[in-house]
Amino acid sequence: MGSMHTGLEEEKNGFERMAAYFAERAKAEVGLIVTGGIAPNRAGWVAPFGAKMTSQRDVKKHRLITEAVHQHDGKICMQILHSGRYGYHPFNVAPSKIKSPITPFTPKALSQKGIENTIKDFINSADLAKQAGYDGVEIMGSEGYLINQFIVSRTNKRTDEWGGTFENRIKLALKIVSGVREKVGEKFIIIYRLSMLDLVDDGNSWEEVVLLAKEIEKAGATIINTGIGWHEARIPTIATMVPRAGFAWVTKKMMGEVSIPLVTTNRINGPETAEKVLSEGCADLISMARPFLADPELMLKSRDGNENEINTCIACNQACLDHVFENKTASCLVNPRACHETLMTSTPAASAKNIAVVGAGPAGLTFAIHAAERGHKITLFEKNDRIGGQFDLAQRIPGKEEFKETLRYFNTMLIKHDVDVRLHTAFEQNMIEDYDEVVFSTGVSPRSPKIEGLDHASVLSYPDAIMHPEKIGEKVAIIGAGGIGFDTATMISQLDADEDYFKFWGIDKDITERGGMMSPSHAPSPRQITVLKRSPGKAGKNMGKTTGWAHRAGLKKHGVTFLSSVTYQKIDDEGIHFERKGVLEVLEVDSIIVCAGQVSNRTLYDLVQGKDNCHLIGGAHEAKGIDAKRAIAQAYALALKI
Ligand code: SF4
Repeated sequence: MGSMHTGLEEEKNGFERMAAYFAERAKAEVGLIVTGGIAPNRAGWVAPFGAKMTSQRDVKKHRLITEAVHQHDGKICMQILHSGRYGYHPFNVAPSKIKSPITPFTPKALSQKGIENTIKDFINSADLAKQAGYDGVEIMGSEGYLINQFIVSRTNKRTDEWGGTFENRIKLALKIVSGVREKVGEKFIIIYRLSMLDLVDDGNSWEEVVLLAKEIEKAGATIINTGIGWHEARIPTIATMVPRAGFAWVTKKMMGEVSIPLVTTNRINGPETAEKVLSEGCADLISMARPFLADPELMLKSRDGNENEINTCIACNQACLDHVFENKTASCLVNPRACHETLMTSTPAASAKNIAVVGAGPAGLTFAIHAAERGHKITLFEKNDRIGGQFDLAQRIPGKEEFKETLRYFNTMLIKHDVDVRLHTAFEQNMIEDYDEVVFSTGVSPRSPKIEGLDHASVLSYPDAIMHPEKIGEKVAIIGAGGIGFDTATMISQLDADEDYFKFWGIDKDITERGGMMSPSHAPSPRQITVLKRSPGKAGKNMGKTTGWAHRAGLKKHGVTFLSSVTYQKIDDEGIHFERKGVLEVLEVDSIIVCAGQVSNRTLYDLVQGKDNCHLIGGAHEAKGIDAKRAIAQAYALALKI
C-alpha cells in the first residue's frame, strides 16, 4: 500500500485513527504498508505543524500504528518526507532560493551546515522509526520534494560541493541512504522513492536516472519505488484521464539496471491491471494507495476470486487528495468509511426493517447495499430501465470510464445482499404504508435558467446531449462552466475517445529529452465550442484542486473557448445573444447545451414530509454542485443508523 497523506497525522486522536485505518488494511492482507509522509525536522513540514519524527514523544505515538499493524502480521514502513521548497510555511528550505510555482513561500537556501544537519535529521528519523517498531522506512526522493530538488539542476543552482555536477547533486540522496543504512542495520527495509520521470523542464535525463538508481542500490536501499512527475508538473499523472498502469513502462525501462526489487505505481487500481503489469515484466512489486482507501479488502477479495465485489478507486481525487490539499481529513468518494474507521462502524440491525428506497442513483444504491448488509429487507425502486443515475451519465464521458466499475460494484452488491431491485417501477405515495421506512433518493433534474427562447430547437439539456451526441452540431455553446459543463465539453471536443494520452500531454516514452517531455500533439476538435458562464473569473474554479487545472488545460488544448461575466439575452435562429463587458454579442451556433446546474427531485417526498419514517438523501436533499461525495456519505451514514 503506497504512501498517502491523510490529514490524520495532524489530527486530535489521529494516531488512534491511523492505527485503525492501517490495521484494517493489514488484516485484509496488504503485503507492505507505507505511511503518509513524516518530516524529519521542522523545515521539512509539508504544512505548519505537520507530522514529524524527531523525539521519543513521536515514537510513542507511532507505536500505536506499528503495534496495530503487527497484531495482524502486517508490515509497515514510515515514509520520511522533507518537503523542501514545497513546504507551505515560512521555515521552508531548498538547495537554492527559488520559489516553487505551487507555494507562496520563498525558501531559504540551505547552508553547508544546514545540509549536514538535514542528513543527520533523516538518519535520526529513521532510527526513531525503528524504535517505534516500523519494519522500515521509505525515503521520499521524488515528486519534487527536497531530495529531488537537490538532484535536478532546475532547482539546484549551487556552486559548492552539493551543486553543479550530477555527482554533486545526488550526494544528498546517497548520504541519506547510506547514513540510514549504517544506523539501522542490514535487516531494516529502506525503500527509496526515485523520480524516474520528472516531467518538468531541466529534469533528469534517463541516463542520470539509471545512474542514480545504481548508486542508491550501492548506498544500501532494499527496494526502489517509482516516482512520476513533480507536483508542479503540468501533466496529470494520477487523475482519471491517465490510462490504467499508464507509467508502468517507465519502471520496465529500469528493470535489469539494478538487482534490488523495483516497485511500479500510478493508476493501478485493481488486481487485473496489477497482474498484467507483473506478467509483462514491468516491475517486481506493485504499489497502490488510493485503491486501498476505496476498498480495504481489495487483496482478500482478489485472493478469493471475488474481484467483482471490489469497490474500485475511480481516480477522482475528490475525497482523498483534494481533501488533503484543502487541509481536511482524507476519505474516499466511493467509501466514506476510509480514514473514519473508528467513527463509522457497521453492526447488524437490532431488528430487520422492511425498507423502500426510491431512486437508484449513487445515494440510493449506497444506502440500499449497506442497509441490506446490516440485515434490513430492501426494495429498490427505479423508474428508469437501469441503475446509476448521474453515474450512468458520468461513465460516458471520456476519461471517466472508471465510473463503470462503481456501477459493477453496486450491481454485484445488490445481488449479494438480496436487494429487491424493481426497474421501470415508479413508487407511489400510497405505497408508503407498506414499509417501515422509506428513503427518497430521487436525485436531480437539470435546472432550466430563465432565458428567452430556451425552447428553441437548437437547445439541448446536458443529459440529452450526453446520451445523444449525434444531435449536437459543429458550432456549440455550452451554458454553464461547472463540472457538468466541463464534462460535456470534454465529451464533444474529442474526435477520438481513445486519444493518445501521452501525445496529448507531451510525454516522450523514449525519454530522449531531460524530464521526459516533448511537444504535445492531438487531433483537432471536431467542433467549435464556447463555454459561457454568468459569474466572473476563471471557468471551473470550484472544481477539485488536484484535477480542475488538468480538465481546464485539456479543454484549452482542444480549442474550447471560455467566456465569463456573461448576461444572457435570448436564444433564436441566429444563436445565443448575450451581453459582456457592456457589449451585446451574438454567438452563431448550431447547438446550445444547458449545463446550468440542477434542482432536487423531491415532489414525492414533499407530499409526505413530516413523517418520521421518511428520509431524504443525495441530490434530492441537496442539488448544489451535484456532489456525489456528499450524497454517498449521507446515504452511508443513514444506512449505519437506521
Ligand atoms: Fe479513489 Fe476517488 Fe476514493 Fe480518492 S476519492 S480513493 S480517487 S475513488
